[in-house]
Amino acid sequence: MNTQKPRKVSEKLLLGPGPTPVESRVLRALSEPTLGHLDKDFIAIMDETRKLLQYVFQTDNELTVAMSGTGSAGMETACVNMIERGDKVIICSHGVFGERMIDVANRCGAEVVKVAAPMGKPIDPEDVRKAIKSNPDAKIIGIVHAETSTGVLQPLDDITKAAHEAGMHMIVDAVTSLGGVEVPVDRLSLDMVYSGSQKCLGCPPGLAPVTVGPKAVDRIKRRTHKVQSWYLDLTMIMRYWGEERFYHHTAPVNMIYGLNEALRIIAEEGLENRWLRHRKNAEALWAGLEGLGLKLLVDKEYRLPSLTSVLVPEGVDEVAVRKELMNEYSIEIGAGLGDLKGKILRIGLMGSGSRKENIVLFLAALGNVLRKQGFNADIGGALQAVEKVLS
Ligand code: PLP
Repeated sequence: MNTQKPRKVSEKLLLGPGPTPVESRVLRALSEPTLGHLDKDFIAIMDETRKLLQYVFQTDNELTVAMSGTGSAGMETACVNMIERGDKVIICSHGVFGERMIDVANRCGAEVVKVAAPMGKPIDPEDVRKAIKSNPDAKIIGIVHAETSTGVLQPLDDITKAAHEAGMHMIVDAVTSLGGVEVPVDRLSLDMVYSGSQKCLGCPPGLAPVTVGPKAVDRIKRRTHKVQSWYLDLTMIMRYWGEERFYHHTAPVNMIYGLNEALRIIAEEGLENRWLRHRKNAEALWAGLEGLGLKLLVDKEYRLPSLTSVLVPEGVDEVAVRKELMNEYSIEIGAGLGDLKGKILRIGLMGSGSRKENIVLFLAALGNVLRKQGFNADIGGALQAVEKVLS
């Protein structure tokens, strides 16, 4: 094997659906000396990380941990721990990740009742109320807060109220919202919420923060059968993250350092300031894209600040657009998924990626690329629109 050849890793501007740019402070933390996963110094870092996660989740939930694995491990953790074979669950699907939650719940042996909305629209709380009425024996409602496949930010207040009035638990996917948008864990008493480290938290992929409310902890403790997954079983994981420090699996020690540093950066900025920055910069991007002459998929009321979907204009080859953005400008953005494949481009402004200079560079680059394809992009108009929002 020829190991003389250097690894090919050059820096790219990550403006896609994730991973997102990682600050050098986080990269340095990742390279600190590896400690044993039961070392007292590492345990102190774990304890601090847990407190920082409680801050970012805005919760006092004791059971707040970082699961080993990406956002999908968070989804699986929620499903395998909350669902027992034969349980009826209502899952709301307004995009690819809602569909994935249905798949995961089915694999846990759940009887799934689906509530759907077209891609690009949020779930209508009235539809959820109807599903609850027809299925009063359902135990859980699952929903994606920030649907990364469309760029919809799903309002949670009414749906959570309906779920709790019916005695049902809420599982919420906050993979693309945590750290960039308010995730109201304690305000709404959300029962199980999970995320991923590589989106608005500004860390590389590899950890899935999870928080579990008291009623969900109770449900997990009252299970009649063991959790189907040994690796994701919270009844054991909680013993490692808690006082007992019971060995379960070897924690990804350096990843925890990285997450710890990323969360410290968030605490230094302040959560509210961070939400505001994500919102303001998203508004500038939206104005800039419309300034170029493009149309956005999602109505403004439901737009997700961390991820924007823009429609591909007639006659434009979206694969060629993304290729040229990468080859000429080293900018990564995302393609459409599922039914939106070929129809939209997805632009992420998350974590340290959400900044004015990235918006200006991206719009100018996109405008150039579109012009080459015969679309008359108004680059000057786009940059003026950005300035107007941010000045
Ligand atoms: N849920 C949502 C809303 C996501 O956007 C993603 C990934 O983009 C996932 C779940 C799965 O996360 P991962 O790819 O980190 O496993």
